[in-house]
Amino acid sequence: MHVTLERWMVERLADALGVSVEEAERIARRRSVVRVMRWRSIVYFSLRKEAYGLREGTMIAVWPDGHRVVHGYPSIQRVLLPSIAIPKHFIDKVVVEEKMNGYNVRVVDLRGEIVAVTRGGLICPYTTARIRRMYGEKLRRLFDEQGEDLVVMGEVVGLENPYVRYYYPEAGGFAYFVFDMARGDKFIPPGERRELAEQYGLPHVPVLGVIDKNDIETFRKIIDDLERRGREGVVMKDPEYRVPALKFTTSFINIHDIEVGMRFPFDEGRSYLFSRILREMFKAIEEGWDDRRLLSEEQALGKAILEPAIESIKRVKEGGMLYEEFELVFGGREELEEFLDYMSALGVDVIVASVREQDGELRVKMRKVKDSWREILRILETGLSPID
Ligand code: ATP
Ligand code: MG
Repeated sequence: MHVTLERWMVERLADALGVSVEEAERIARRRSVVRVMRWRSIVYFSLRKEAYGLREGTMIAVWPDGHRVVHGYPSIQRVLLPSIAIPKHFIDKVVVEEKMNGYNVRVVDLRGEIVAVTRGGLICPYTTARIRRMYGEKLRRLFDEQGEDLVVMGEVVGLENPYVRYYYPEAGGFAYFVFDMARGDKFIPPGERRELAEQYGLPHVPVLGVIDKNDIETFRKIIDDLERRGREGVVMKDPEYRVPALKFTTSFINIHDIEVGMRFPFDEGRSYLFSRILREMFKAIEEGWDDRRLLSEEQALGKAILEPAIESIKRVKEGGMLYEEFELVFGGREELEEFLDYMSALGVDVIVASVREQDGELRVKMRKVKDSWREILRILETGLSPID
């Protein structure tokens, strides 16, 4: 996994960034802007922040005789007040797609190798292996017939992954839903992209409607339905991609995220709180909550903040640890080793809790220890707060 920088790698990086070889060398050695990684025989750089006109999460694969830039997935602006933002932002029609709650994966064909690239611009060996097993043949046909410059973008959802676990009845343990496609950095319009996905038999995120930008009533009906079904929200797109997409999430997921995050108050908890509270503050205004509704939302929010956090403190007090636990499925030992090497290259501490063989696959329970455990331990010992 550790890559020794060679001259040709730096030269290809220079080509891709449009800078001198000396400058590329400086950037590559500093590692605060780019990370150098290897997946099997493919050496690549990933951009840790926006630089040289390229978005964060851009990955640059290099070979002695060329390079390939896979652009980072753009950040999507969030809507707080739909009745104001939607008519102002869009031109006429709005494609309302479901926003699925998983992790963003760009699938690309790198000189014949189909790989899965995560939001940060890293080739995830686990996601690559699972996507290949499930959709390998369909993707092969898609790239062969539509061109290897195509980038397929989608959400991996389900419970069998190391990143974001959220149950979808239609997903099983692991599934991939396409929500965008691009050539280079040029996005294909939603309608055409959906047809391509269907043509090649790839699952696509649900399209919940194509509405007029002033039809807030229909928009609200769509959201109410998602609220009832416990789904995350929507991403709204112009039918021709003339303006960027916008996103909006349900109260259900806002509160749910807080509840799950606050099990680890010093990890996700801390970063989730204000952003989610902000969404609820403006929802109250947008929807004109009455006193009864306000009281019930206040109670739900308070419970989501305090209850899981107090549970965690009690667990630590009784000698327990705080960790995330998840089960991954591997094709064999080598795949498992490859994933563990990848985690350690990223400096992520994962512990293998159990390994079980089933139908020729390995089902592996893993744990990621959380900082919250150490923080809470220290508070219980000293009685002092780590923050003011
Ligand atoms: P950012 O704020 O930069 O967009 P984030 O990962 O924090 O990043 P999210 O709130 O999860 O943002 O919303 C954007 C993400 O939603 C996308 O990166 C993508 O992974 C996911 N997503 C799910 N469904 C869709 C969809 N239909 N269209 C576009 N993105 C979708
Ligand atoms: Mg997300």
